[in-house]
Amino acid sequence: MNLVDVHCHLNHALFKDDLDQVLERARKAGLKALLVSGVNPVSNKEVLALAAKYPLIKASLGIYPIDALGMAEAEIGLPRQIVPINLEEEFAFIEKHKKDVLAIGEVGMDFHWAEKEKTYEKQADNFRRIIQFAIKIKKPLVIHSRKAERECLEILEQEIKNHQIPVVNHCFSGKKNLIMKAASLGHYFSIPPNILRSESFQSLVKMVDLKQLLTETDAPYLSPYKDKRNEPAFVVETITKIAEIKGMSSEDVAAQIWENYKKVFGWG
Ligand SMILES: [Zn+2]
Repeated sequence: MNLVDVHCHLNHALFKDDLDQVLERARKAGLKALLVSGVNPVSNKEVLALAAKYPLIKASLGIYPIDALGMAEAEIGLPRQIVPINLEEEFAFIEKHKKDVLAIGEVGMDFHWAEKEKTYEKQADNFRRIIQFAIKIKKPLVIHSRKAERECLEILEQEIKNHQIPVVNHCFSGKKNLIMKAASLGHYFSIPPNILRSESFQSLVKMVDLKQLLTETDAPYLSPYKDKRNEPAFVVETITKIAEIKGMSSEDVAAQIWENYKKVFGWG
């Protein structure tokens, strides 16, 4: 089987002591590509360095909505961003490394960590500029939309015409009507291993065509196991669960998701 993790954070401090073992377990599990997502300028450089060092790792460079505002002040194991990101400067950096970059993400909006009333205008403006940049360099988008699912979909629908670039909704937690809307816009959904205990991801997988599904881990976050760090090898669990829900073999599910991966991230 060819497996893929389209969204993880292997530059996180929790991987600094045993990244080689983590990658070895991923390889043994059948993973052929791991997209490590940056969230700000410092982490984007780390992601490029990892991708240059390990053939299994691919770069997704991002501008996390909270970091874009300069509000990523707490120590979370990823580089902090305490001043607003200069988008034009970061676009120039990403464009310069375009051939080593598979996607733009994670990007989007977030009304969990930032108050909607105070930050909607700025977040929406940043997001629109990022979408236009991704269209310009012809890269797929990986979207973070925590507590902002409806708002992100509205803006994506307005900014992207005629399927100019693919959109992947990472860890999408919107309600059923929003799942249907995103699916009808042709968006993809990347499913994390915590689908094992999350009924909302299980129902999303039931509703959406397999041709629009991908697998991710968001490692070290979103572990399927309580008190255990998440890692890319756990994609296997997601495949098993999707196969069970769809009434298919794991091999057939993995093969279709691999096709989806090539279609989305081979774009441009
Ligand atoms: Zn993430």
